[in-house]
Amino acid sequence: MSSSAAILTVGDELILGDRIDTNGPWISRTLLVLGIETTERCSVGDTVDEIAKAIQRLAEQNDLVFVTGGLGPTEDDRTRQALAQAMGEDLMLDSDALESINSWFALRGATKPSANDVQAFRPKSASWAENLVGTAPGLWAVLENCKVFCLPGPPSELKPMFAAIQETILAGICCGIPRKTVELHAWGMPESIAGEKIADLMRLADPTVAILMGQKGITARVTSADQDSVKQMVAAIKERWSPWLYGCDDESLAYSISTLAEGSLATAESCTAGLLSDAIVQTDGASNWFSGGWVTYANEMKQSQLGVSSELLEKAGAVSYDVAKAMSEGAVSCSDARCGLSTTGVAGPDGGTTEKPVGTVFIGCTVETDTEVREFRFTGNRNEIRRRAASTALQMLRLRLLGIHVDTMCWQHGEAKL
Ligand code: AMP
Ligand code: MG
Repeated sequence: MSSSAAILTVGDELILGDRIDTNGPWISRTLLVLGIETTERCSVGDTVDEIAKAIQRLAEQNDLVFVTGGLGPTEDDRTRQALAQAMGEDLMLDSDALESINSWFALRGATKPSANDVQAFRPKSASWAENLVGTAPGLWAVLENCKVFCLPGPPSELKPMFAAIQETILAGICCGIPRKTVELHAWGMPESIAGEKIADLMRLADPTVAILMGQKGITARVTSADQDSVKQMVAAIKERWSPWLYGCDDESLAYSISTLAEGSLATAESCTAGLLSDAIVQTDGASNWFSGGWVTYANEMKQSQLGVSSELLEKAGAVSYDVAKAMSEGAVSCSDARCGLSTTGVAGPDGGTTEKPVGTVFIGCTVETDTEVREFRFTGNRNEIRRRAASTALQMLRLRLLGIHVDTMCWQHGEAKL
């Protein structure tokens, strides 16, 4: 039987709901890849008794316990004391840990505040783990035949420390078969259709296939211990979700365009106001194909920066097919780019009319001299409408660059016009 693990995240901010625990899910996923299942995840506040009680209980029931947070130098960082209490031991100063903290400050030419000295303390029989990106050393100890690891709260410190002590974590631990997970992302088809297209695949016991909704659009999550069956399932879903499927795992819509872009892109954004260009420049190497863009919120800016005529703005209104077209073409003609994308719409909560309710967005997509414009009625709050518009614009461009025509997309209102 493979070993079991539990995760305890510590911090008042977590139990009060001011911060979302991302460490717990990250450790669970990382362990699963190593073939270890997490049986329980829980959070407690910054109280020595609560932390100590939770450590004891989880250590009785598991082979591994991971605790994150509460190793800092301030009064509310109490994991160190709690571990000592759970072990029934005193804290003692570890001179090597102190040396490591001293050199962390010395390397940066900084004076060490005396408050940081407490971070060099550990329960008598515990060991410490060096922190290469922060001051808080990690701690680990054996309690009730269970290995308990106390790791720093900041994710940027937790992850490298976990990697550095992975051998210690796994020593003497029984690992099951590592589980492989692939996530496939699609944008532009409704969830119900996405579900129908793979309903039979979702009924299989192995690999398991789940549908998740989020900022990446619709995601199919494929998991199995058998690498080949994951591969086959991924291929099947890719085919069924074509042409909406744009990438796997960390790949974004902008990334999918970067692999196609012949020539370059310029953006003219009104309601998305920079979200579209932000999504683009999150991709490595965006400077190779992204020329730049305009945020033209006011009509005057649409005129002066993109050459949209005042008559057109007057006649059609800023939120219209014609203005989206003129903005996208303006982005191309005012830059050296081959492609243009524009957004103009009503993100709300005010400004909607019967004819153009909140959520109405026109998106223009120019490739050389041809411009396609689609009208949408996005749902959600102001920022959801803006994010959905930005992703939809990227999917429109991706499909055009692939030479694929779709009659309609999710949230589209009326017909596409080319
Ligand atoms: P601490 O080690 O408790 O002082 O935590 C330092 C910082 O790390 C906190 O202010 C949070 O920003 C972050 N942090 C702590 N625990 C978590 C967690 N479980 N998930 C995400 N971030 C966390
Ligand atoms: Mg804390």
